[in-house]
Amino acid sequence: MDFEYKQKTNAERAKVEDLFDYEGCKVGRGTYGHVYKGKRKNSTDGREYALKQIEGTGISMSACREIALLRELKHPNVISLQKVFLSHTDRKVWLLFDYAEHDLWHIIKFHRSAKANKKQIDVPKNMVKSLLFQILDGIHYLHANWVLHRDLKPANILVMGEGEERGRVKIADMGFARLFNSPLKPLADLDPVVVTFWYRAPELLLGARHYTKAIDIWAIGCIFAELLTYEPIFHCRQEDIKTSNPYHHDQLDRIFNVMGFPQDKDWEDIRKMPEHGTLTKDFKRSNYVNCNLVKYMEKHKVKPDSKQFHLLQKLLTMDPTKRITSELAMKDPYFLEDPLPSQDVFEGKNIPYPKREFLTDDDDDKADTGASKAGGADQSSGHNQPPAKRVRVMPPSTVSSSMVSSDYQHIHNVQAQQALQFSSSNIQTSTSSTYTSRF
Ligand code: AMP
Repeated sequence: MDFEYKQKTNAERAKVEDLFDYEGCKVGRGTYGHVYKGKRKNSTDGREYALKQIEGTGISMSACREIALLRELKHPNVISLQKVFLSHTDRKVWLLFDYAEHDLWHIIKFHRSAKANKKQIDVPKNMVKSLLFQILDGIHYLHANWVLHRDLKPANILVMGEGEERGRVKIADMGFARLFNSPLKPLADLDPVVVTFWYRAPELLLGARHYTKAIDIWAIGCIFAELLTYEPIFHCRQEDIKTSNPYHHDQLDRIFNVMGFPQDKDWEDIRKMPEHGTLTKDFKRSNYVNCNLVKYMEKHKVKPDSKQFHLLQKLLTMDPTKRITSELAMKDPYFLEDPLPSQDVFEGKNIPYPKREFLTDDDDDKADTGASKAGGADQSSGHNQPPAKRVRVMPPSTVSSSMVSSDYQHIHNVQAQQALQFSSSNIQTSTSSTYTSRF
């Protein structure tokens, strides 16, 4: 490339470090890199941003296109990707998002430890309903635009703190599992994999080769159950997850212990699953005859004749073809019953949850061993949630197109910028009409 042109574009290109103050403000470490809380330099509006520095260097052309597509997504319950910075000196990629002070992982943890200490927390009666409705609304929008989340879990469901969008759910990390699913090194070269399988749908655990909308719905069912009980419904030991094999005996065992073993009539196509042979070899239906969701939820004081239980059952349906869609779930009688869901999940009450803490590099090292403040062991219950992760288990592909190229090639400056200017004409506008009309 022409040397002068290169110098000129270099000088013109916006740089994260010139525009934002974020030094010492690391708030998280996720699957794809480090997250910092930042403020614009020389700005008086006080607006806060989350800056995500993607782990590794470089980016493929298809990832660029996909990022450009995600930039087009606009919905009140989907975190908006405001800008992408490509730092050409160190080949780093930065993503700029709105900052959300809370997330469901921290909120649930807070309630769990309050419960253990017999402390009452004053939250609105409809809080769980509002959270679930907004999660469904955001996912419905993504699904309507053929974006699958693929990694829904409490840590990825953010909630806005004080400000214009107080108490608003923001789904984060959407579509990124597909973007950055190509590990930089072979899995065998990396630390033991620390990835949660608790929110994984049974068809994935049985070797389903494609991600589908139904997989996101299963995860939402798991999150709903966790919001009702403060316990991960399919909690399972994590130590054994060391391979890229999707079949996970202990996780399936946990699911059957709660749900019961699926009857042939309930999930006819289970026989067609790639790991069905292993399943029949490893499991006996008779071991689970006394297990069902009614019993499990009754133990947690959720009545089986309640509307919330009925919706939970529809979300946690084993057969993916029979699982409810986000669109239908939003019309469920649960949401028409008083108290109705609200836009501010805190409904104007004081927010009882603490703000995010800043992490030090020391915390970061601990995160590598799964014991960081941000996401390590929860002493109150022994539930070791794993948001601090280094490694991705290779997921199956999606049914939709444009996969990330595996070589993670570094792209030409100009090509990258052109790709980021790419925009999709296929993005629909917000699907939240039902929702907004109710507030
Ligand atoms: P992730 O890379 O998305 O898994 O995020 C890692 C950590 O950063 C998690 O604890 C998230 O809750 C936090 N985080 C991610 N996005 C944001 C955001 N937009 N605002 C505030 N915190 C975030």
